[in-house]
Amino acid sequence: MSTIDNRNEQMFPKLTPNEIDRLHRFGEVRHYAPGEALFVTGSVAPGMYVLIKGSVRVTRRDPFGHSAPIVEQGAGDFVAEVGQLSGQPAFVDVHAIDDVEALLIPPENLRALMIEEPELGERIMHALILRRVALIEAGTGGPVLIGAENSPDVIRLQGFLARNAYPHQLLDPAQDQDAAKLVEQYAPNPSDLPLAVCPKGTILKNPNETELARALGMVPIDERERTYDVAIVGAGPAGLSTAVYAASEGLSVIVFDARAFGGQAGASARIENYLGFPAGISGQALTGRAYVQAQKFGARVMIPSEVVRLDPTETPLGLHLNDGRRVKAATVVVATGARYRRLGVPNLSDFEGRGVWYWASPIEARLCRDEEIVLVGGGNSAGQAAVFLRSFAKKIWMLVRGPGLTESMSQYLIDRIKAIDNIEVLTQTEIVALFGSREKQLERVCWRNNVTGEETEKPIRHVFCFIGAEPATGWLRDSGIALDGKNFVLTGSDVPFDARPSNNGSGRPLPLETSVRGVFASGDVRSGSVKRVGAAIGEGAVVGAELHVARADGAAESSGDAEKDSGTGSVGAMGMRLNPHCTPKRAHQEATAALSNGVAPAYSAAGWDRGR
Ligand SMILES: Cc1cc2nc3c(=O)[nH]c(=O)nc-3n(C[C@H](O)[C@H](O)[C@H](O)COP(=O)(O)OP(=O)(O)OC[C@H]3O[C@@H](n4cnc5c(N)ncnc54)[C@H](O)[C@@H]3O)c2cc1C
Repeated sequence: MSTIDNRNEQMFPKLTPNEIDRLHRFGEVRHYAPGEALFVTGSVAPGMYVLIKGSVRVTRRDPFGHSAPIVEQGAGDFVAEVGQLSGQPAFVDVHAIDDVEALLIPPENLRALMIEEPELGERIMHALILRRVALIEAGTGGPVLIGAENSPDVIRLQGFLARNAYPHQLLDPAQDQDAAKLVEQYAPNPSDLPLAVCPKGTILKNPNETELARALGMVPIDERERTYDVAIVGAGPAGLSTAVYAASEGLSVIVFDARAFGGQAGASARIENYLGFPAGISGQALTGRAYVQAQKFGARVMIPSEVVRLDPTETPLGLHLNDGRRVKAATVVVATGARYRRLGVPNLSDFEGRGVWYWASPIEARLCRDEEIVLVGGGNSAGQAAVFLRSFAKKIWMLVRGPGLTESMSQYLIDRIKAIDNIEVLTQTEIVALFGSREKQLERVCWRNNVTGEETEKPIRHVFCFIGAEPATGWLRDSGIALDGKNFVLTGSDVPFDARPSNNGSGRPLPLETSVRGVFASGDVRSGSVKRVGAAIGEGAVVGAELHVARADGAAESSGDAEKDSGTGSVGAMGMRLNPHCTPKRAHQEATAALSNGVAPAYSAAGWDRGR
């Protein structure tokens, strides 16, 4: 049963006349004649509509022009889904059935509503999220990918869309006539496939992720030159956590991620050790909520956008993006986590995305249904993946280089793996050769027991690698940020005295500040951090607090942002709103005292009230 059948009442709650009255201050009344469009698929919806009189028809429409009704809504209903929080393109058509009077609440006011009307905001937010889930389940309103289900490029694009919670559909030209016609017309060469047919009619031939994201309008384009209080690089748990805390405190925040929100945690089928989720939660569900939460507080999230360079000589700090654009921010948070390590097999790149996987989502899992597969790694991430894949694969050969799992895996996962009869753990064993070709994909795998020297070759088409990760700090080259011997970012007291000193109240960097003033690091990318979701989220919150200290110290002069919230306090050197009682010295003392007790101060101590 789909979400729309199951949770209809939560998806479409009615607002009372009294509640609608309360919402009037967030929007303006608009009128629509019968048949008139409120918005259409693929165009940016102007916000959320609260229906006062009349009714509308919500319809799904695919790029081939087929349409089908989803729901009719009337007085007391509201028309929106979660994308309207950040001005994303709509996934449905909405037309007036009769004369309609509606309150239009634009994205920035919708975000304000969520905060200022918490009870109502919670109900609305819940409905918006469920509506997105229903759109994803039905594949409504996003692009249609045309290609074979097991094509590596289809899997690549599907993975990108799925990880960004973007609705889409897949049509196999061998089975669908419309798809076959388009292939005949637009994809004469096999290398043109898959096609991506976008809602507004654009047809892309085997696009990369950035091309697809652009055609879909996923990356908002900021026309104006603007300086942000905080730029966060990386939308994994650490980056999203900082975004939530900093944006909720009224700072202007921009977040970049090269691929998708969620980072490594997004790859986790079930996180069982994150506080408050006794039944476990998937990494995508946890970070998906954080992603929406950050946007609710007004953080701007740019995905996919890779940051290729940090220029600390610019004031404010300059971030250079892979598309040539440059963004300025008074402070920068490095939350780029880590990238998976690769196997040391010479022809590995022939099979990456063609049988060698670094991810175990349902998309990859369905490819290995009833097959024998190899999973390499002995850490928790490997353990989780094995537990997830065991219900798809016929047999999992789990190859571990070390003598056992106890050194590297949590006991609960070891116990679970022991109890699963289609997982066989081979210790002191590693892959020595992969056979196949780019065209035929992976066909056979050979592994060796490093104690006996015995080699085993098996017809296996899927290898999953979870062998740890290296810090994603290549983009910090030339930034002057001090790194440790393994290229993790040094912060706080680990920053060598001879590295460029940070000029805050104590003369030394704050606990999570780097050797460059105003630049912070949190999560897996930070030297000495605990590589866990909980730790990354906690550090994100701590950085949120330290940003205020840096601000109070006037870390990096900003040219000033024209778009500051009004409120109590003055505008500080960084252009951020200051609490009049918060002196730099006091801020620094409070922060460091609270941090050493393991408490981020901003959310408890007086002196941090942002006067929202
Ligand atoms: C499969 C798997 C399962 C796991 N399970 C658990 C678990 O059960 N419990 C637990 O506590 N921990 C678990 N972990 C570890 C946990 O996921 C990490 O500790 C956590 O995700 C670290 O968060 P982070 O934000 O620091 O970095 P990451 O999660 O690595 O996020 C970094 C982000 O930065 C982006 N990025 C990198 N470079 C750039 C750039 N130049 N420009 C823009 N963006 C960039 C990346 O795309 C990425 O999204 C697991 C990890 C894996 C891989």
